[in-house]
Amino acid sequence: MSEILQKSSLSKEDIITLLSFTDNEQQKLCNHAANIKQQQTGNIVWLRGLIELSNLCEKNCYYCGIRCSNKKVVRYSLTHDEVMLAVMQAYKKGYGSVAIQSGEITSKSFTDNINKIVADSKKMTHGEIGITLSCGEQSEETYRRWFESGADRYLLRIETSSEALYGKLHPSNEQHSYAKRVNALESLRKTGYQVGTGVMIGLPFQTKEMLADDLLFMKQFDIDMCGMGPYIEHTDTPLYAIREQLPPLTERLNLSLKMISLLRILMPDINIAATTALQAIQKEGRELAILAGANVLMPNITPKKYRDDYFLYNNKPVSARSDDDELAALEQGLRAIDHEIGFFRQGNSLHFHPLST
Ligand code: SAH
Ligand code: SF4
Repeated sequence: MSEILQKSSLSKEDIITLLSFTDNEQQKLCNHAANIKQQQTGNIVWLRGLIELSNLCEKNCYYCGIRCSNKKVVRYSLTHDEVMLAVMQAYKKGYGSVAIQSGEITSKSFTDNINKIVADSKKMTHGEIGITLSCGEQSEETYRRWFESGADRYLLRIETSSEALYGKLHPSNEQHSYAKRVNALESLRKTGYQVGTGVMIGLPFQTKEMLADDLLFMKQFDIDMCGMGPYIEHTDTPLYAIREQLPPLTERLNLSLKMISLLRILMPDINIAATTALQAIQKEGRELAILAGANVLMPNITPKKYRDDYFLYNNKPVSARSDDDELAALEQGLRAIDHEIGFFRQGNSLHFHPLST
């Protein structure tokens, strides 16, 4: 085991071996990744205040609670003023960056709205707030327009780099094609964003070999940031029918932590998020991810009245505490593991080099 970790580069077989480690061996992998993180990005954790802009979605992914066929969802979209208020509060509290996420809508009115949100957020904060967008697949022209209005980063998960598995998780039509998703990632790269991707971990039919390929996909694509976490079933989705075939939740959590450590080893200077889905399995899931090599946290700052409706998976944590209390608790939790929040800084990926024009 320790010999594998001393290697200068990890092969696919090495990654598969490391993904199957447990207990003490998993801890050694985690410690190794933590050392690399300490050398590269230190013990600072960057915040992105997460604004769940809308749960309207044109797509029908088999795993997701807000898929368009789920008629039980109460659909909402934040008003422009609600978004601006959330951005302003995040700015004043020193979050440094916000992440604006939504279902996938490609209409002109929606893409215009995002454009205005980006432009006004930058204007209102004297260009200081960092903006990550995560609004699905859009045309290259739309991506470019948002970038030129001031968006800094874009997160579009590939979900799985196995085209065959991707096909099992989505309806088979042009709207849900794997090739289209890869093309969208390529458009984002061409446009000049800091590009993030990620996968779900512990999906039905997913093997360790596929997970190793996911990591190699991220390395080969030379991503700047990653948001990946466990797949968690949602009662009102087609995949719920095959929930018995899933690995237990604790195994999905551990696999996710090992994926984070391995990605930190493969790509030492990128930004890696400790995602909310980890917290849905274990209360301290995000802190465990920070210890395993992650360096970004995305506290939810969506207006409270909408939070229950952005329900992607079962047990999605919705805190009864105020956002300020949540942040204070987070800070305390991080201090206990010798980390601190990088307030008032955007926290861009050290891996990123802007396109030269
Ligand atoms: N609509 C956009 C962004 C919002 S969805 C998009 O799909 O890109 C954000 C992420 O939530 C998805 O990329 C997916 O990886 C994750 N997600 C959806 N359903 C999930 C589930 N049941 N368990 C875990 N993650 C899920
Ligand atoms: Fe829509 Fe994204 Fe959910 Fe797919 S994962 S149904 S695109 S919100």
